[in-house]
Amino acid sequence: MVATPLDVESQLGALLGDSSTEFDVSRRTRIYCNRNLRMDQIELIGFDMDYTLALYHQDKLERLSIDLTLAKMVTNHGYPAEIRTLSYDPHWAIRGLMVDRELGNVFKMDRHSYVGRCYHGFRKLSSDERKAIYRNEKINLSSDRYDWIDTLFGLPEAVMYVTLVDWFDRTRGPGAIAYDKLFADIRMSIDEAHRDDTLKSVIKADLAGYIVKDPELAETLHKLRSSGKKLFLLTNSLWDYTDAVMRFLLDGQRQAYASWRNYFDVVVVGGAKPAFFNERRPFVQLDPTTGATLDAEVKQLLRDRVYMAGNVAQFEEMTHIRGEHVLYIGDHIYGDILRLRKQHMWRTAMVLQELDREIAVLQRLENNIRDLDLLDRRRRNLESEIDYQGLRLKKIQRLLEDAATAAPLRPRLDDEKKLTKLALDSLRDRHQLMTEEVTSLESTLDRAYNPHWGSCLREDNENSRFGEQVNDYADLYTSRVANFLSYSPLRYFRAPRRPMPHEV
Ligand code: IMP
Ligand code: MG
Repeated sequence: MVATPLDVESQLGALLGDSSTEFDVSRRTRIYCNRNLRMDQIELIGFDMDYTLALYHQDKLERLSIDLTLAKMVTNHGYPAEIRTLSYDPHWAIRGLMVDRELGNVFKMDRHSYVGRCYHGFRKLSSDERKAIYRNEKINLSSDRYDWIDTLFGLPEAVMYVTLVDWFDRTRGPGAIAYDKLFADIRMSIDEAHRDDTLKSVIKADLAGYIVKDPELAETLHKLRSSGKKLFLLTNSLWDYTDAVMRFLLDGQRQAYASWRNYFDVVVVGGAKPAFFNERRPFVQLDPTTGATLDAEVKQLLRDRVYMAGNVAQFEEMTHIRGEHVLYIGDHIYGDILRLRKQHMWRTAMVLQELDREIAVLQRLENNIRDLDLLDRRRRNLESEIDYQGLRLKKIQRLLEDAATAAPLRPRLDDEKKLTKLALDSLRDRHQLMTEEVTSLESTLDRAYNPHWGSCLREDNENSRFGEQVNDYADLYTSRVANFLSYSPLRYFRAPRRPMPHEV
């Protein structure tokens, strides 16, 4: 068969290892750029493990986290066994929600920290209720009253909280349970499940059931290494679990790498981020066979060794690579991205597992989104027209009430008044219809993302608070690490030009 010119081009591209241009990469696997980043300047690339290199099957992990947490609440905190029989919907929550421990509410904010929607149990608060609670004073998000669901590990907490607030309110009466203590008990129990190995032992026994094995991960890491970059792993998980997960992900994937550890120049477990970035805990060396700590003081970070704890200052001293030349890829907006960007020069890329679905919805409902934009613009024009006609009516009225207005003008003014009123009524009817259409389109879109909360990155026609933080602190963001495979390791990622409102 004779190759067509296009075939020849793509064969040549493959032979020469040419990377695709951004627009060849499907939107779902693209890397998005908030701040210009030249990959040719990056010498060292760090990876978080959980939800970054290792994506989880979210439903299954959530169900497990919920089961184990509830068991602990019953056994250790005296909750009735019945709470284990309730139905907990793993799809209920999204990342970026805020828990109000005092009132038993869960809400989502826009980028101005305005509370956009709020649930108490499964009851959605009306706009008046929401405003009465959250609009009169500035919400102090750093107070103990609020808890931010900022990683995918946290979604089960929100799901358990709403389900139990709902159940206790129904069975014991509203407010009978202390909402603050309920959340504290959930938090403590899930925290224990993460720390005492109850959760990890189940995952380790069924890694394929809980962890997504990305067939392109090994090749992606290899490609980055081949371009001369050094790679490191920096995870909060401890050695035993890290080793099990990383073996599952990478061992046996490429002949040149006998073990997953060969992909990395430095391996740090138990990193205690964000403390790694803002405290000075010393590095400790571990024996990879037994996991025991070795006594010798760590003076350099060597390949084929495993380290625990540590801090960014010593890390930079020992690797001799600083700030702008390091890219760290993580999923935790606070622990991996925000603290790092605020205090250090390291560049950041965020893995947002939800992005794949968000983009799929955007693509599927592209026409609805276009209609919504158009309707929204028309509605704004209509509002200006209503304002204009309203003002005109007032002027006419004032002239009619003014004794100085000449008598011959009055019949004309009366006519104008009638006409303007008619025009206004018709404009208001059209506005009402348009508003209904906008609301219906918005709820179709919201339902496609998440029926209760809509998109995790947007709220109303703004970025959500979470979306804004991704925007502000993640230099790059994408749905999985292997998306780097479609790009040259020397690529110049450029942020799109973002106009201010007056420029649009
Ligand atoms: P990383 O994302 O690779 O840094 O690792 C995250 C680690 O934090 C995993 O080992 C999780 O099990 C652990 N983790 C997540 N949530 C909690 C928690 O609430 N308490 C304690 N550990 C947690
Ligand atoms: Mg992580």
